[in-house]
Amino acid sequence: MKRPTILVLGAGYGGLSTVVNLQKSIGADEADIVLINKNDYHYESTWLHEAAAGTLSPEQVRYDIKDVINPGKVKFVKAEVQAIDIKGKVVTTNVGTHAYDYLVIALGFEGETFGITGLDKYALSIANVDAARQIREHIEYQFATWSLEDEKDDSRLTIVVGGAGFTGIEFLGELGNRVPELCKEFDVPAEKVRVICVEAAPMVLPGFDPELVDYAVRQLKAKGIEFSIGTPVVEATPEGVNIKKGEDEFEFIKAGTVVWAAGVRGNRLIEETGIENMRARVKVDKDLRAPGHSDVFIVGDCALMINEEINRPYPPTAQIAMQQGDMCANNIIALMKGNRTAEFVPDIKGSIASLGDDDAIGVAFGKKLMGKKASFMKKVVDNRSLFMIGGVGLTLKKGKFNLLK
Ligand code: FAD
Ligand code: NAD
Repeated sequence: MKRPTILVLGAGYGGLSTVVNLQKSIGADEADIVLINKNDYHYESTWLHEAAAGTLSPEQVRYDIKDVINPGKVKFVKAEVQAIDIKGKVVTTNVGTHAYDYLVIALGFEGETFGITGLDKYALSIANVDAARQIREHIEYQFATWSLEDEKDDSRLTIVVGGAGFTGIEFLGELGNRVPELCKEFDVPAEKVRVICVEAAPMVLPGFDPELVDYAVRQLKAKGIEFSIGTPVVEATPEGVNIKKGEDEFEFIKAGTVVWAAGVRGNRLIEETGIENMRARVKVDKDLRAPGHSDVFIVGDCALMINEEINRPYPPTAQIAMQQGDMCANNIIALMKGNRTAEFVPDIKGSIASLGDDDAIGVAFGKKLMGKKASFMKKVVDNRSLFMIGGVGLTLKKGKFNLLK
């Protein structure tokens, strides 16, 4: 009998967890496993705010895919997926086409701009490692240019961060530590720099524990971060952003840098597959298959699952993407053996937001944490994902070991 081809699209947390678990569990002669990713490296999306602020190098954030796959069992193809033909069971990339028996779509997230005018063009987004590098270099350019200008435009030194969700808050935490370094490096007086977070909702980190939120806001304000809360960004221009402050009241914030961190959607390729989706996320069946497509699995940020306890979707996180990858591998193996698939139930261990390298807030195993303890736990979690995918070797190579900073 012909060996089935398992085609995995995307080498983020979901895709790599799927592949690593498949290669552990099946023999080389049982299936042809093909992994397609646009780069020959994986990046830790959960560390991108650090690369964007310049507190961690882009090199530290990424590792070679070949370091974690077994070439005897998995064929890696560096290519950009361009189209997914679910009916024809074939995927088109910029370097060729691939037929499949089982497909795993793990193409991750994109920034959501909600159609707000100018954001696509004038705001930067912490979307991948290249985009993170661009943000770091853009901010450095603004500081360097200010230093050289005869007629100084102080708005160059204003950084607006749109969104006070986890991404916005973690990025602000890094900026809080990075701005003093930048001031020293580029001879900029600290009082000239403004970092302003603009949030649409009436609170920072909407829905998160109020005590932890208060702590985070206090700590960030102590580092000079300003907050404009309940004031959605309604437009971005080459000079800055317009925010809505009341029924007919708007304020323009002139800024040299605008970073948009106000939400994510799934990969736009999903929207062209014909599979029903919401903002490029597919409400998958309990065993992670696309409804009505018994050979298509979707994991990570392209998948949507409802938390029935609160009747709301689970948030798109690396924690869930990795657990889905494990389950997806098991379910493909079950199908290959003619067995029943299992239902995916997320095991949420908590969530921790860093506030820079030395501070954090969060809930882990039901316990509230803040300060150094939370920061320690966040680094343990960061190292855990390296360990789960690449074992001790990868953890030693890329891990964070300044645990008690
Ligand atoms: P991704 O990690 O986005 O990977 C998708 C992969 O697909 C990438 O390798 C990409 O290059 C590739 N790809 C995309 N398009 C194509 C294409 N057309 N062709 C080929 N390849 C393609 N979650 C947590 O649980 N904990 C955290 O602490 C946390 N921190 C975060 C911090 C930041 C700054 C951000 C932005 C997110 C954070 N998240 C966190 C959320 C988490 O990063 C995502 O939920 C997670 O990355 C989703 O994993 P994924 O495998 O679905 O996709
Ligand atoms: P999010 O959707 O969680 O937060 C976006 C924020 O932007 C919200 O507070 C929203 O009110 C605000 N917003 C929306 N429109 C706006 C507008 N027009 N103007 C101003 N503010 C606006 O998105 P995120 O922070 O990018 O997080 C995405 C996912 O990644 C989430 O599931 C999150 O849990 C996860 N994540 C987790 C961590 C962590 O666990 N440490 C870190 C980062 C991200």
